[in-house]
Amino acid sequence: MSELPYSYEAPASQALFDRAAAVTPGGVNSPVRAFRAVGGTPRFMVSGSGPYLTDSDGREYVDLVCSWGPMILGHAHPEVIAAVQEAVARGTSFGTPGEGEVALAEEMVARIEPLEQVRLVSSGTEATMSAIRLARGFTQRSKVIKFAGCYHGHVDALLASAGSGVATFALPDTPGVTGAQAGDTIVLPYNDLDAVRAAFAAHPGEIACVITEASPGNMGVVPPLPGFNQGLKDACAANGALYISDEVMTGFRTSRAGWYGVDGVRPDLMTFGKVMGGGFPAAAFGGRADVMAHLAPAGPVYQAGTLSGNPVATAAGLAQLRLLDDAAYEKVNAVSAQIQSLVTEALTKEGVAHTLQNASNMFSVFFTENPVHDYDDAKQQESFRFTAFFHSLLANGVYLPPSSFESWFVSTAHDERAVQRIADALPAAARAAAEATA
Ligand code: PLP
Repeated sequence: MSELPYSYEAPASQALFDRAAAVTPGGVNSPVRAFRAVGGTPRFMVSGSGPYLTDSDGREYVDLVCSWGPMILGHAHPEVIAAVQEAVARGTSFGTPGEGEVALAEEMVARIEPLEQVRLVSSGTEATMSAIRLARGFTQRSKVIKFAGCYHGHVDALLASAGSGVATFALPDTPGVTGAQAGDTIVLPYNDLDAVRAAFAAHPGEIACVITEASPGNMGVVPPLPGFNQGLKDACAANGALYISDEVMTGFRTSRAGWYGVDGVRPDLMTFGKVMGGGFPAAAFGGRADVMAHLAPAGPVYQAGTLSGNPVATAAGLAQLRLLDDAAYEKVNAVSAQIQSLVTEALTKEGVAHTLQNASNMFSVFFTENPVHDYDDAKQQESFRFTAFFHSLLANGVYLPPSSFESWFVSTAHDERAVQRIADALPAAARAAAEATA
């Protein structure tokens, strides 16, 4: 350990974690932050700037989490901060409509052709929950198809076999969700169109919608096989169900039009969060105008929110989206590709069995030599190697998601210096992964 710049100990973070554990379950406000899958002390961050985070022990890390996706321009981007400061000075919440939310909705609709109308909410969970309610209200059907390993937020009906923290902690399902709430959820293996067709055949006229991550990033990065999303869309269309593409993670990240900009498969409804909020709680669902017309107050399906379309959040989101031009995507894709090559090279050099998968600039490493097409494949990996890899990188000032079931995220701010820091840290991490034992 002596060659590491940072100790594995993090006394200031540990002291905060102890205080947090006394007043907050598990010491965190979202489970994956707790480091339970990898062990050790979660780092309590005090500031972020560009590609770096600084923790309460004063250590700087190259951030490969980017707040789990939103910070695509890096932390504290001056133009986003200026927009926020300007908005804050005008007041923080009015509980009335305002121009900022119109402008953000217009920007989104202009970028994504099938997005005819949007409703703003405050979290991705709210977006998927509301999209499912709308799909049920519109079709007057109850059942929902989702895929094992896909995470759509902590919506009761969608937690069955979910990815992200549910995958990280190997939770089968969660207590507190009743049979009635989960009973209409049909969980199928990802990338398996035959299973989808069989489910439609087994439940004629009962399936309201299929919800899928546009390109999953919550069981690690597992892109749809060619034709999978189109097959979902066709199966929905043939059976009177709606195709809901969850772009909370991929939206405005994988291209200027999100994953729709990559595969061009036209959803009936879509959900968004993360990047569109510029680091604030802003999210949305939207799609076909005839479906959205069923939403209150235009139609009978109820949905609402005290802070929906919040002026500060919409100002941050709009500023961020306006900065995300073609050049920005080229930059983030290029730096992502560069980091992916460095990771592959380091692990290959140490003879570590691994598969790196990407979806545009999102990527993750599975510690298995087999390609990963679904959640069962993802679970075959040697996660103990990830733990060693993670801690070595952390000790060398590189902050990865603390789970092997999560995407890594980069930003336009990841410059040469940041990439060099990653390159310098990787050989020891690859060695640690090679030497790790179960
Ligand atoms: N959908 C997807 C694809 C996500 O990745 C997430 C969060 O990671 C959500 C929905 C839920 O979003 P939120 O955490 O904002 O509720």
